[in-house]
Formats: sequence, C-alpha cells, structure tokens
Amino acid sequence: MRELRGIPASPGVVSAPAFVLKEDDIAVPSYPIEAKAVPGEWARFETAAEKARLEVAELRDRTLKAAGADQAAIFDAHLLMMSDPEFLESLQERLGSTLRNIERIIVDLETELVDKLSRIEDASLQARSADIHDISRRILSHLMERTAPDLSTLGEDVVLVAHDLLPSDMIALKKGRVRGIVTEAGGKTSHVAILARAFELPAVLGLGKALSGISSGDILVVDGDGGRVLLQPDAEALKDATAAQAAARAAAMSLAQIIDLPSLTSDGQPFILKANIEVPEEAEAAWDHGAGGIGLFRSEFLFFQPGHIPGEEEQYRAYRQVVETMKGRPVTIRTLDIGGDKVLPELGALDEKNPLLGWRAIRFCLAKQDVFLAQLRAILRAAAHGDVRIMLPMIASADELDQAFDLLHQARRECKQRGYEVSEDIKAGIMIEIPAAALMSDILARKADFFSIGTNDLTQYTMAVDRGNERVAYLYEPFNPAVIRLIKMTIDNGRAAGIPVGMCGEMAADPAAALLLLGLGLEEFSMSSASLLRVKRLLRSVNKAEAEKAAREVLGMSSSKEVSAYLSERVAAYCRDSSCIAP
Ligand code: PEP
Ligand code: MG
Repeated sequence: MRELRGIPASPGVVSAPAFVLKEDDIAVPSYPIEAKAVPGEWARFETAAEKARLEVAELRDRTLKAAGADQAAIFDAHLLMMSDPEFLESLQERLGSTLRNIERIIVDLETELVDKLSRIEDASLQARSADIHDISRRILSHLMERTAPDLSTLGEDVVLVAHDLLPSDMIALKKGRVRGIVTEAGGKTSHVAILARAFELPAVLGLGKALSGISSGDILVVDGDGGRVLLQPDAEALKDATAAQAAARAAAMSLAQIIDLPSLTSDGQPFILKANIEVPEEAEAAWDHGAGGIGLFRSEFLFFQPGHIPGEEEQYRAYRQVVETMKGRPVTIRTLDIGGDKVLPELGALDEKNPLLGWRAIRFCLAKQDVFLAQLRAILRAAAHGDVRIMLPMIASADELDQAFDLLHQARRECKQRGYEVSEDIKAGIMIEIPAAALMSDILARKADFFSIGTNDLTQYTMAVDRGNERVAYLYEPFNPAVIRLIKMTIDNGRAAGIPVGMCGEMAADPAAALLLLGLGLEEFSMSSASLLRVKRLLRSVNKAEAEKAAREVLGMSSSKEVSAYLSERVAAYCRDSSCIAP
C-alpha cells in the first residue's frame, strides 16, 4: 500500500480501480468501412479540417497582433501543412485502399511521417514532428467532437486519474461510471473541484507528479475529506473506507432533518441560502436540499456539452427548465464566463499566454456582441416564467458595467421587436471578484441591482495566485486578511447603497467562513447543494450579535492561520456533534 497526498477538493470516500487518462489521450476509434462510404468519410474529414484551419488562422491572427510575426510563423506553417496537396492525396489514397475510418488513417499516417523524420539527422526537420502531431490532434478532436475518451462505455465503476481535466471532460463524465477523481493539477476552486462537488464525486487534486506510479486497474481509495489517495490499499484500509462511507450516509440523513426548518439564526435573524449549479439538471438537487433559489447558474457549462454550441433557443429552454424546477424561487443566471481556464475555441475563446489575466468573461462578451446578445435574449425570455436575475462576471470597471447594461437594453428591444413579452424590471447585478471592483464597490453599487462576491477569483487576484496551480496552493487563502478586508468593503458599500449582497464563491460553503460572513453583514450564501445543510445547521445555531463580535475580532488579526484557528474554535463550540464542521 502507498499513500499519496493532495488537496482535498470534494468530500467523500470511495474505492474503485483506477482508470488512467494520459495527457494526450484521445481514444481513436478504429473500424472498417465499405467502399461506398468513402466519399462520406472524406467529407467528414474536410469539415473537420476546415474547422481546424479556421481555428489555426484565428490563432495566427491573434498571435500576430499580440506577439508579432515571428511567433505567428508557426501557425502559418501549420496552415500550409494542412493544405499540402501531398498530405491530402496521401490520406485520400489510403482511405480508398485500406477502407478504414478516417481517424485511423490520420493516426497511421502521422506515425509513419514522424517515424521517417526521426531517422533524418536534421534538427529542424525533427522539429516538424511536433507540428505534425499538433495538426493531427487538432483535426482528430474536431472529427471526434470531444477530447476525452468515451467514459460512458466503461464496464465498471472507476476512479478517474489524470493530469488535469477540461470542463468538457467533466460534463461528459457526469453520465459515465466515474466514482472519484484524482488529478496532478488543480486546487480547491478549480473547475474540476467545483464540478466534482456538484456531481458529488470524491476528489483529491493537486498531487503534483505523483501519478506515474498508478496504472489502470490498480485499486485506489480516494479520501476527498483528508486529501489522501491510497494505492493498492490493504484490507484494513478498505474496511476503513467502507466505515467512512457509512458514516457519511448517516451524517447526510441527520442533516436532512433540517431541510424544512426556517433559515433563521438562534436569535431569529433571517439569512438566505441558495445553490450554485452548472447544468440545468442540478436544479433538482438544489430544490431537494431546500435551496431558497439559485444564486449562481454558471451558464458557460451549457457550452461545454459535447457536440455543439447552444444558440438562443436552446439556451432559453435550459434557463426555463431551471426556472420551472425552482417553482417561483429566484434564479440568478450568470452570463458566459469563458476564457481563463475555460477555453472554448469554437466561440473564439482561446488558450492565451496569460489566460487568467486575459480575454475572459465580460471582456469576451463585450467584444463578441452577437454571442452576448443571444444569451441576454434567452435569459430575458426565460424570465417570463419566473423570478430571473442576470449576473455579470468579472466586472473590473464602471465603464464595462455601462456597456453591458446598454447591450441588455438592446437585447430587451430585440426581444420586443420579435414579439416576446419582456419585463422591464429584471434585476441585473454583478460579481465582485476582481479587487478593482471591490475597491470601487461604492460607485458600482449605484449602478448594479445586487452584488455577489466571487471569492474564488477574488482570492486568486488579491493574492496573485493561480487558483488551479497546486505549487502555489499554500498561498490561496480566502481567510487572508487582505481578502477579508475586500469582502467587508464590498458588504459595507452594498449595504450603504441599499442593495443585497451575497456570496457565491466557495468560501460561503465553509461553516467557519459563514460564521464570519454573517458577522460582517452578508445576507445571502450560495454554494453547491451538497454543502447547504451543513452551513444551515451552523447558521441556525449562531447568535447574530455573537457572530458580529467574532467578525470584529477577526478584523484585528494579521494572518489567515490566526483567523482560521479562531473561527474553527468558534464553530466547534456551536456544533458539538461536528455535523457542521467542514471536512
Ligand atoms: C468565483 O470566482 O468565486 C465564482 C463563483 O465564479 P467561478 O468559480 O465560476 O469563477
Ligand atoms: Mg469567478
């Protein structure tokens, strides 16, 4: 038995065989085709190759603008290679002679070319191998319309082991037999962690270079509470895992008893609990856990469903589904937050040199107005079916907010012109997740209808720490006094302006943080459904005046360690049976 240590990213314990996904692993299908299917197969190739060419051309243009002709030259070379008549003839000739599917032909030709180049002693020619590999992967990913192997066909439950996972991988595996996740990269608030919690899959992330010793089929125990992975566990460790699973079931049953109790502190002060969701089906779990609404619908995940990009109509149906599931309770839909670690080449949101400081979220939407307007129209139309609120991500300045609101007015006009009834008073608020926005929150509060504090990004940008980088995870501290000051400033300014202030960052799901936030005056706590009842139990046992006193104590502290130790002690005093202590 070997024990590996990582970041506890999604609670729960599971044991199952490993399924190791290699970095560059595309499970390429291989099957015979009939001679009459050759033209269709070639047409499939041409469509995929054209998409790949467009993608590379856009990459070239953007690189040219940002970094100059030298850097962009590599993409020119890729474009030339993709249109090389010799390359195309070779593929077409093999397709006809071997009668196998086009993906197989591409991989075989790639292997052959790389093999040939490796035998020539010329460094510049050998460098072409990497280009050939790149082109072939790009075309294959379009042919197969996905980047991960088909996990839904697995014959048994597995723990998925990978270097990192894309948002689209996570959405795809929801339907498969993956029971736990282990990755080398990632942190507590990376998209893998957020989705693992949403899908209730135990996950340990950020193991660094620890995966080389794990092979598919090895039995693993994933302890998502303790951040441990046991490789080839002994009988005792397996027994402990089973006991931990039973304890978790018992704790969930005990918490279920408070679902219908009111959200009031012990001295009768109200608080609001809402759920964060990523896909419409999650709204059911939110309802079942007694959520008072949806505080954050991360709409971008609709765009990561395998296969295609949803247009206005499909988005409208998805938003309406959530609104109807919540039966009149408010639903806050966040507009597209792509870019950063959520690249989506189909929409033009590409991997950038410095993606977390790049062209993402509202910046992307203000530039791609057709995409943004279609989404706004879909949201406005869904608002006819219930209480819908619009939330704008990554606002950094009042100017951006003004531009976004102008587009919202335009979308409203367009809806009316097309004959849809649209309410005039749909609330539109913003996420406070960039320090500049927190610092300007007094001004922004005059324009926005509400604030929702996004501590996942606010912590990242305040501490200058990539939230998905395991090497600097020790600095990623929502309890850092600098982050707490920005949160307090936002709450104070929002309240002074008379607008509601909530939090939808993961911090709200930590009972110790919830105690502090209540004391700072936060009204609304939004989190994944699985965390709702734990926070509810804590807040119901807290006296608001005592929470305010605790917050005053915390504001005088100098380190996150001190804050964390103090709050954990306070929470333990409130929850003697540990049912509301975060794992
Ligand atoms: C946040 O940044 O806190 C947030 C809720 O948004 P996301 O995690 O989707 O970036
Ligand atoms: Mg964010």
